[in-house]
Amino acid sequence: SSKLTQSMTIDGNTILAESLKKQGVEYVFGIVGIPVIETSLAFQSVGLKFIGMRNEQAACYAAQAIGYLTGKPGVCLAVSGPGLLHCIGGMANAQVNCWPLVVIAGSCPEDHEGIGGFQEWPQVDSSRLYCKYTARPPSARLIPLHVERAVRLASVGRPGVSYLDMPGTLLMSQVEEDKVQLDFYSADPVKLGHPDPALVSQAAELLSRAERPLVIVGKGAGHARAENEITKLIENTKLPFLPTPMGKGVVPDESQYCVSSARTQALLKADVILLLGARLNWMLHFGQVPRFAPDVKVIQVDISPEEFHNSIKSELPVHADIKPFTAALINKLAEKKFSLQPTNNNWWQTLREKQKANAEFFEAQANDKSVPLNYFAVFKTVQATISRDSIIVSEGANTMDIGRGILLNNKPRHRLDAGTFGTMGVGPGFAIAAALWCRDYAPNKRVICVEGDSAFGFSGMEIETMVRYRLPIIIIIVNNNGIYGGFDKETMQELQSAGDLTQCIPPTSLGTEVRYEKMMEMFGEAGHFCRTVEEIEVAVKKAITVTDRPSIINIAISPQSNRKPQAFNWLTESKL
Ligand code: ADP
Ligand code: MG
Repeated sequence: SSKLTQSMTIDGNTILAESLKKQGVEYVFGIVGIPVIETSLAFQSVGLKFIGMRNEQAACYAAQAIGYLTGKPGVCLAVSGPGLLHCIGGMANAQVNCWPLVVIAGSCPEDHEGIGGFQEWPQVDSSRLYCKYTARPPSARLIPLHVERAVRLASVGRPGVSYLDMPGTLLMSQVEEDKVQLDFYSADPVKLGHPDPALVSQAAELLSRAERPLVIVGKGAGHARAENEITKLIENTKLPFLPTPMGKGVVPDESQYCVSSARTQALLKADVILLLGARLNWMLHFGQVPRFAPDVKVIQVDISPEEFHNSIKSELPVHADIKPFTAALINKLAEKKFSLQPTNNNWWQTLREKQKANAEFFEAQANDKSVPLNYFAVFKTVQATISRDSIIVSEGANTMDIGRGILLNNKPRHRLDAGTFGTMGVGPGFAIAAALWCRDYAPNKRVICVEGDSAFGFSGMEIETMVRYRLPIIIIIVNNNGIYGGFDKETMQELQSAGDLTQCIPPTSLGTEVRYEKMMEMFGEAGHFCRTVEEIEVAVKKAITVTDRPSIINIAISPQSNRKPQAFNWLTESKL
């Protein structure tokens, strides 16, 4: 009779695995240990793809990147206590970026709670601040319901994070199979929110009457998968557009209507701005004076009505999905036969002049190939050598900021960087997710992970994960011996011999001439070390031929190389 009971019961792990599968989850990133080892095996046995990583934080970054790339949340699986707490930074990053993510952690058995159980921690409470939805399913029977809810809430409206807490006792509990609804419904995607036609008319009216109109394309437009509509809008109307960092590629950066190289001017002078899936937060200087005109009129399109009128009052808030809104706007503007003519339009002339001046500055810097190299020469060489449809992952201070203008994106959701939260350490996890996505959905496309030497340090151990899963990520380390910048070897040695090391090593400096590429030797491979433009070309070309493992290209640049002098020093601008 014990055999009979066995065949008729099912455990929490299997119910969880089946439920995730039912809700369309495809990828799980995580690190196993007590009590989730069996969980990971149950995941694999229902066909979920499991990627074992080296730190939960990086696993959490990978899971949110796959959510942004596929539109379906990835799962991050962690152990109890410290495992879940290591995910918190990743959860905050996903929530701040508005990316879908489901985190699942094992937790201490319920009968050990309150008496000092192993890795006991209030995990649901700890997660609540970072989530749209948190729950501990009260019984194994209810797991399918909570998984459906977790996946749905992470995905709909403004995307974000869900957390499910799984005590060891719940995962191991056996319930009678016919009492569990394993085929719990999976709802069809929610119908897109269509805009009020009157608001579309008003938007068309405002844009067509503007003297200096501008379209800003944010990563919300990438999430909305509105690339075809927005590209058509820009091509039909010839409106100048400005992508935000991760809005890059929704309309190709190489479009003649992209005014990234006149960004400051475009923001400062625009009189009507069509804001598509971007927030007027620090990244857009709050939409305020002195970076924007005092009387700028913003047409704000967002899926989240809470976002309207933040920081400045919107002239025209449109609560709608970007895709149907843009489709409707194209028609309205076509009725008006609206389009700008860059050749005889004052606004376009102003922007073109600024673009020309910036291009000249860039060329002068990039053509200076003296060693140690500057950032511009490095990025110009990389851009010329990689494929134009590559996915660019990037983090670091100067590395990310300078690289953004030079490493172009011509496809949507092809740039993953430190994002709204400015998080360092995201690069390797994002790159792992992107490389898996390429393998499954876009074979031959490559992932270029451009890291500062400081940024690389946060999650550098994930190269072992890349090797294990044979992911051909090209990691480029732009190495300036420090955070923002460091010192050359001789200066650093002098500093280190000046007395107490804790007093004389500048906090911004890191090791000099560190040969990060030799980390590939741990796996029996050679890395690349470059000092010149020629060496970079050879290394990138070689790395592109390697299709079954990562490559590291370590580029020593001048520790003093810097970005272009900026008209505004935004981070130190105070409002007080
Ligand atoms: P960026 O960093 O590019 O400026 P943000 O992350 O600040 O972008 O803003 C993205 C915005 O896009 C959020 O306010 C979010 O609510 C919104 N959004 C996300 N998806 C959609 C969608 N499908 N339609 C409309 N708005 C969306
Ligand atoms: Mg650095």
